[in-house]
Amino acid sequence: MAAAPALKHWRTTLERVEKFVSPLYFTDCNLRGRLYRDSCPVAALSSFLTPERLPYQQAVQQDFRPAQVGDRFGPTWWTSWFRVELTIPEAWVGQEVHLRWESNGEGLVWRDGEPVQGLTTEGEKTSYILTDRLGEGDPRNLTLYVEVACNGLLGAGKGSMIAAPDPEKMFQVSRAELAVFHRDVYKLLVDLELLLGIAKGLGEDNQRSFQALYTANQMVNMCDPAQPETFPVAQALASRFFGQRGGESQHTIHAIGHCHIDTAWLWPFKETVRKCARSWVTAVQLMERNPSFIFACSQAQQLEWVKNHYPGLYTRLQECACRGQFVPVGGTWVEMDGNLPSGEAMVRQFLQGQSFFLQEFGKMCSEFWLPDTFGYSAQLPQIMRGCGIRRFLTQKLSWNLVNTFPHHTFLWEGLDGSRVLAHFPPGDSYGMQGSVEEVLKTVTNNRDKGRTNHSAFLFGFGDGGGGPTQTMLDRLKRLCNTDGLPRVQLSSPGRLFSELESDQGQLCTWVGELFLELHNGTYTTHAQIKKGNRECERILHDAELLSSLALVRCTQFLYPAVQLQYLWRLLLLNQFHDVVPGSCIQAVVEDAMSHYEDIRSHGNGLLSAAAAALCAGEPGPEGLLIVNTLPWKRTEVLALPRPGGAHTLGLISSAGDSAQHGLCSCSCPHFPAAPAAPAACVRSARAPADSFSRLPSPTKTDGSVTLDNGILRVRLDPTGRLTSLVLVASGREAIAEGATGNQFVLFDDVPLYWDAWDVMDYHLETRKPVLGQPGTLAVGTEGGLRGSAWFLLQLSPNSRLSQEVVLDVGCPYVRFHTEVHWQETHKFLKVEFPARVRSPQATYEIQFGHLQRPTHYNTSWDWARFEVWAHRWMDLSECGFGLALLNDCKYGASVHGNVLSLSLLRAPKAPDATADMGRHEFTYALMPHKGSFQDAGVIRAAYSLNFPLLALPAPGPAPAASWSAFSLSTPAVVLETVKQAEANPLSRTLVLRLYEAHGSHVDCWLHTSLPVQEAVLCDLLEKRDPAGHLPLRDNRLKLTFSPFQVRSLLLVLQPPLD
Ligand SMILES: [Zn+2]
Repeated sequence: MAAAPALKHWRTTLERVEKFVSPLYFTDCNLRGRLYRDSCPVAALSSFLTPERLPYQQAVQQDFRPAQVGDRFGPTWWTSWFRVELTIPEAWVGQEVHLRWESNGEGLVWRDGEPVQGLTTEGEKTSYILTDRLGEGDPRNLTLYVEVACNGLLGAGKGSMIAAPDPEKMFQVSRAELAVFHRDVYKLLVDLELLLGIAKGLGEDNQRSFQALYTANQMVNMCDPAQPETFPVAQALASRFFGQRGGESQHTIHAIGHCHIDTAWLWPFKETVRKCARSWVTAVQLMERNPSFIFACSQAQQLEWVKNHYPGLYTRLQECACRGQFVPVGGTWVEMDGNLPSGEAMVRQFLQGQSFFLQEFGKMCSEFWLPDTFGYSAQLPQIMRGCGIRRFLTQKLSWNLVNTFPHHTFLWEGLDGSRVLAHFPPGDSYGMQGSVEEVLKTVTNNRDKGRTNHSAFLFGFGDGGGGPTQTMLDRLKRLCNTDGLPRVQLSSPGRLFSELESDQGQLCTWVGELFLELHNGTYTTHAQIKKGNRECERILHDAELLSSLALVRCTQFLYPAVQLQYLWRLLLLNQFHDVVPGSCIQAVVEDAMSHYEDIRSHGNGLLSAAAAALCAGEPGPEGLLIVNTLPWKRTEVLALPRPGGAHTLGLISSAGDSAQHGLCSCSCPHFPAAPAAPAACVRSARAPADSFSRLPSPTKTDGSVTLDNGILRVRLDPTGRLTSLVLVASGREAIAEGATGNQFVLFDDVPLYWDAWDVMDYHLETRKPVLGQPGTLAVGTEGGLRGSAWFLLQLSPNSRLSQEVVLDVGCPYVRFHTEVHWQETHKFLKVEFPARVRSPQATYEIQFGHLQRPTHYNTSWDWARFEVWAHRWMDLSECGFGLALLNDCKYGASVHGNVLSLSLLRAPKAPDATADMGRHEFTYALMPHKGSFQDAGVIRAAYSLNFPLLALPAPGPAPAASWSAFSLSTPAVVLETVKQAEANPLSRTLVLRLYEAHGSHVDCWLHTSLPVQEAVLCDLLEKRDPAGHLPLRDNRLKLTFSPFQVRSLLLVLQPPLD
């Protein structure tokens, strides 16, 4: 043994050890310099460049040209395939031989026609093991292919990570050689780095820190890099240190391998397919080499891509899953945004995801996994529970800009009272690397010390970095039980949560939404994506309902289950957490828009097919089928198509027993297509015209216009601003005294960094009202069924707006149809309505319900919510009166004091420099009301605005009589979804999903005119509740709801008569 260290100088000792392992300094004589000793160039390198992402079989048949290390290739998004011919020197027999490969593009190694490993310099994957030990008779000549994508781990941002991609960027292979790898050197390097980490991490007040430092120092003394025979002694010193055990009370870290892959973000969807392959083949290789290594993987869509494009790899993944090493988590189709998708869409994320996992891996996921989303809806706990999940993992709230979230392990209670066990890995990351610093942070940062003694540690490079490395695994294995540090075990999400569940009695509870105090601009960025999302959610709702009715009414009709699944999956894909938020590059936006276009065109085709089936069987002239897809009676003005593309306004009233509140009716008047006839036909047939006072012609005085439908009286000033909004019956004024509503305002919108993501608090200090030109307001529609006024507004030298303010007969809200031509840089457009209402809180619609948020900035938790999200409506009410603001495609909102504002358009420049530039169309509406918003019907009004009555051309005669499929006995319950049950595409079973929307305990009778044989409750995955049989009497069944409860039921239809 060498002498003990004689000196006590902390810093020189520490830095001495650092230099001994440094990749930068003294590599001529230090240990690191010995890691790869002998090397030789590859025998031959040739390449083939293509703008396409070709399958292997096709790529290798192309014309490969000689290539050199250092050649430039590209540009961005192209692919260079390399044929790499190797001859391993005979002298290397007995050695471990690697192919060393470095490039700024992401590589995938193919051997014998199968992918074998990813090579990503940014993900510390720069070598591929050709052989662990070259045998005497082993073949020494072989040919590999390396597929290099012309993009980095995070795309190809020009100048900065989130800048728009540089289309001209060129790529390079900077190293391609064979080398002998010295594993004994590598092991010593791992040990020395850990010892350095312990010394630094525990610091000079800690005796274990000194033990680590002096052990490392002694190892350097003992070890001569040029003489491998000195290594075992050094190794033994390290082993003795790491073998000194900790006490029983040590915290346990569950290290779980992971690779967070954004389904599209700074690269297009198609590149993600390859990122998955590169990452997972690397993970599979590690699983095969390390039987204790467990890798958690989310997002069914990505697995489906790999299944289709890399079947060999997929089989290996399934084998790893059988061994429990590859653990599917999340249960969803993609890791979706947690705020913007509708309640039904969130259910479908799980329905599509869980059924995929069950089919492909034999079981459903038991954890919801959403580490990287910009906030979490208060309805998620109920949705999770309904989909067989009681456990939730994320970490994103560690990004809060204002308030530190108080828990890492806690019970999360949702809007309806459902609870799940939530865990945030206390290291505040999902991409750890296994360093001592991270391990220590996981313990010290944990805000539930003493309550639970377990936490998660997710390690691995994300986004194509290929996930974990062998080095990370070796570090974590070394730290399994060492005095002074927490215990580290390679573990699974299941094991972690089981441990946490046993501590459940000790945990605190958080009630309501998990609001992320950052990225609040994502409620607004990329308005066309938001609009596509809302519109396609509606189309799929309507298509499912109409197809279900067609299935019941028409024996020949085949429910389009396959098409609907395809369209739903497209919509769910677009709800990924960088797509619907608008935080993606232009190429992704283009793909997303084409997905919406597919849903629109195919969805409308499905509507037509269902309409045709509903109208078949009776002779007569062609007509229009008018359909109300909402479960209550409606009387609305509808623009009816006429031949030649013109429209006529008609007042349409859904039929049915007026004693019932709810009515989902399929109103099918005879509707001859002869010009002029339709509207009159409907009006004369069933318009309750007498019950409404016809709108008088809008009056114009002093440049102002007044619209009055007997319910509302709306006065617009000569620039289009709202100076008065009166609820006629009570004479109550909704606009604050001396203020004007419909006021457009512009803000400077320059965030600190995350351009498309963030709107900062200080933008509120730059508010500039847009002032119009008097005299621009004109009368539009002249009264009768509809009165309107319109105006133009120059927002800035480059942007303009036109708006039609519309009031219909019988309608309790006034609509603002808006068109904007938007050409701005870092500006934010909102519209404001100062209300004559005072309340400390406002109400916002969320998935299957609503919640309150403060209208003041009292505490940091209040002001951090200066910009929030909402779905179709928001409301500010005081006792007896309120004002609701509805919208058809917006999500960003706020209420401060008495001012309701709706966020309309932003103009960020990264990662998409063209975001939101161009033409936009959207509608919002204002509804003053007596009493509470529940009693006044705000929720129904917002549904009506978003689900207009359908007027579908019917190829045959429409059924003579209108009929209603479903009605409900209380307005508190909404029938949200009617669809065919998933289980069997030929089944005559429907699924109905209803929710309590008022926030009340209520009994509800559901009436149906359909031939129902059996009704039974089921969960959100459509699994029968064995105790859920519902007695049917006179076509009615009774359901009991608690506030915001979502209930699903199966209706088994009677077999068709013929
Ligand atoms: Zn992400």
